[in-house]
Amino acid sequence: MKIHLCLAHMSGNEQRYISEAFADNWVVPLGPNVDAFEDDLSRFLTSGAPDLSALRVAAVCSGTAAIHLALVMLGVAAGDEVICQSFTFAASANPIVYQGATPVFIDSEPDTWNMDPALLDKAIADRMAKTGRLPKAIVVVHLYGMPAKMDEILAIAAKWRIPVVEDAAEALGSKYKGRQCGTFGRFGTLSFNGNKMITTSGGGAVVCPDEDARRLAVFYATQAREPRPYYEHEKIGFNYRLSNISAGIGRGQMTILDSHLKRHRDIAALYAELFNDVEGFTFHGNPSPDFDSNFWLSTIVIDPQLTGGLTPEKVRLHLASLEVESRQLWKPMHSQPVFEQAPAYVNGVSSHLFSRGLCLPSGPWVTDDDVRMIVNEIIKCSRKS
Ligand SMILES: *Cc1c(COP(=O)(O)O)cnc(C)c1O
Repeated sequence: MKIHLCLAHMSGNEQRYISEAFADNWVVPLGPNVDAFEDDLSRFLTSGAPDLSALRVAAVCSGTAAIHLALVMLGVAAGDEVICQSFTFAASANPIVYQGATPVFIDSEPDTWNMDPALLDKAIADRMAKTGRLPKAIVVVHLYGMPAKMDEILAIAAKWRIPVVEDAAEALGSKYKGRQCGTFGRFGTLSFNGNKMITTSGGGAVVCPDEDARRLAVFYATQAREPRPYYEHEKIGFNYRLSNISAGIGRGQMTILDSHLKRHRDIAALYAELFNDVEGFTFHGNPSPDFDSNFWLSTIVIDPQLTGGLTPEKVRLHLASLEVESRQLWKPMHSQPVFEQAPAYVNGVSSHLFSRGLCLPSGPWVTDDDVRMIVNEIIKCSRKS
């Protein structure tokens, strides 16, 4: 059986919620599963954090849609600039372009692989000097589940009075200084795509500061209908709400989120232990106790000098021949052909990681023996090369 990077894994409770939706004829993009899934999510994000008690969640059809709605609510429009982490999946940046705005990419720092706070501050000052205007928002990402340096980033954002959108698509259950990722920005966004920590087959959520903000997100996600007996529109809306069927899957998944998180973290600990002291391989672990990654995927960096010129691609091909899926780290957005024209503030960190890093399988389907086999095979590649 093939070992995947991260494969959807059901609890067995999903079918019950889906059957209820059919029995009650709630086969629409609203209903009891959507409401209950949103409540489950807000309870999960705020548990143990009384200061977050006003926080509410709006369930939508994808993580990309969630980011788009956050930008819409922040008033991002044609001609604006929006700061975005360069080292990420394209879905962090694409919604900026949907709004006719320009992404301005910021490179990473080496501890977390996320947005470099010092570079962020410099970039904002430089945009201000060059364009006479401040960027409209900052999209920061917790890549592979590793929390970004949120204290520093929020302090810089506050100094310049720029709102933060927190792309926590890969970071459900990750914590920074004891607080859940997705709850730090003006808006947080989550993804429940098939390969993420939990799945609704496809789906996402906007984490909102309060019920008013949640209502606004739902308003834009349901075609921006004014409260009239007929269809009246004063704003451009979207068809982004989550289906009540998908939300049923989400409710089932919430019953095993804690066990998924534990498995991802246990697997990461095993990779870290097995790679410890192996020349040329560095496991990407929490840089300090302030960071508590969900380890959505386990990631390593390979030093070609110490491994006889070993590259991530050589390892990927070898693992693929054994039916094990692995993948090079994200290619930075500032080097993507589609974003060639976008301003970028770079320091070499994400390019370095892209050329040397590899994602390894994780999740409930991956056994300890799988992890041992994968690490042995990678070390074998190094000896051969
Ligand atoms: C998956 C992902 C998204 C988009 O989520 P979808 O639900 O697939 O639209 C956004 N950002 C990051 C970093 C992701 O990994």
